[in-house]
Amino acid sequence: MANDTGLSFLSEAPAFGFDNSYARLPERFYARLDPTPVTQPRLIKINEGLARELGLDPVMLATPPAVEVLAGNRLAAGSQPIALAYAGHQFGNFVPQLGDGRAVLLGEVVDRAGVRRDIQLKGSGPTPFSRRGDGRAALGPVLREYIVSEAMAALGIPTTRSLSAVATGEPVMRETVLPGAVLTRVATSHIRVGTFQFFAARGDGEALRLLADHVIARHYPDVRDEENPYRALLDRVIARQADLVAKWMLVGFIHGVMNTDNCSIAGETIDYGPCAFMDTYKPDTVFSSIDHGGRYAYVNQPRIAHWNLARFGETLLPLFNDDSDKALAIANETLATFQGRYGQALMAGMRRKLGLSTEDEGDAALAQDLLNAMAEAEADFTKTFRALDPESDDKVRPLFAEPAKYDAWAVRWRERLAREPQDAAACRAAMRSVNPVYIPRNHRVEAVLAAAIERDDYGPFEEFLKVLARPFEERAEFADYAEPAPADQCVYRTFCGT
Ligand code: AMP
Ligand code: MG
Repeated sequence: MANDTGLSFLSEAPAFGFDNSYARLPERFYARLDPTPVTQPRLIKINEGLARELGLDPVMLATPPAVEVLAGNRLAAGSQPIALAYAGHQFGNFVPQLGDGRAVLLGEVVDRAGVRRDIQLKGSGPTPFSRRGDGRAALGPVLREYIVSEAMAALGIPTTRSLSAVATGEPVMRETVLPGAVLTRVATSHIRVGTFQFFAARGDGEALRLLADHVIARHYPDVRDEENPYRALLDRVIARQADLVAKWMLVGFIHGVMNTDNCSIAGETIDYGPCAFMDTYKPDTVFSSIDHGGRYAYVNQPRIAHWNLARFGETLLPLFNDDSDKALAIANETLATFQGRYGQALMAGMRRKLGLSTEDEGDAALAQDLLNAMAEAEADFTKTFRALDPESDDKVRPLFAEPAKYDAWAVRWRERLAREPQDAAACRAAMRSVNPVYIPRNHRVEAVLAAAIERDDYGPFEEFLKVLARPFEERAEFADYAEPAPADQCVYRTFCGT
């Protein structure tokens, strides 16, 4: 069965079991098109655990016909490829049309837990939304997204996932010529704040309602029973984003490009471009080479999330109430809950990081004062929390350039721990289950990418994935992965995958 671009449907499987709800929405929600074939697909990686979660056989996924599908050279049965339309605020400036410029949604599958998941190819060729882009992705950013998204998942942070990476055998032109690749991204959906903005900007109230109803059915079915389901929708999205950003802050993750088109309605971390984990704790850390004003600095992330949610709320105004004053009041009241929710999620996480199972008035100040001491003494964020121990300061003191700053704080922490019902062993175990040993440190990511790109050596990539898959479990043979960059390997700048 051939179609327009000559892609053929596979008869010999793989059977993804696609059921494509987004493709059943009206045609103005997307553009129908097939991925553009590549000359020499070569499988780099299949995510076996994720494949099984999706009800797919990982062995089947690695067979040549399946790799053809993951490269965009053939279509699996039931696939209805579409590039999604969306708009977005990029660094605060509204762009009425962005859209999937280098991605196509192959279809949706219902996973073994009953959750509907998008299967998307990223780097699959030009689409009507490509503007001046080539529709392709370079191997480096594909591997970076694979590594960091899987690390986030293992840390328990909602995120899109990576099912596979395939090298295309084709060059992509960036500042230099780079090898190309296609990532298969899995998301609970690719609907963004920017998707709502696309229709709001066009005054397409009918599409907005359809989109909101689609999102409710798919992600928030319980809000249908609420008195004002659209208000409840905003409420739920705020809750998920507040929780998500708190989780980022608690591991020192800097997204780097929190544009509204990268803000997922399902509350997943999406779009791993210039993202990075902080080494030394500095609240104003910015890595992205294009973030000149520091808009998306670590410390700004909650404020930006709130701003993005306000843009979401604006798109829903006509659905809240026919009376525009009433609609605005609903949006404002709902948006005003963000700060409190974020603060609660952050504090709950901070208490866990500090080994506190109960709540005490002074906990916020205690946590803040540790962070202040870390900032002043240039302590490594991840190592410091991991080294905290209810009974010993031996590991943590040397992490502070001025250990006295830690000592003063530790006296107060111990006083607080003394009021905890749990004993030291239980407290230590609880702390170790939330304070990771291993994060994808930038210098390690860079080294893994360099080995793959320059030497075609994927050993370091495979090993790194093994380390990051169990971030809370110290393993002697991987001790080096817990260390921050030596001074000469510090990474200060990251670049978008475009
Ligand atoms: P991002 O910075 O990845 O969030 O992308 C912002 C917008 O640029 C989206 O509409 C992307 O689809 C589009 N885009 C990014 N890279 C490319 C590319 N190489 N070709 C075409 N469109 C792209
Ligand atoms: Mg994006």
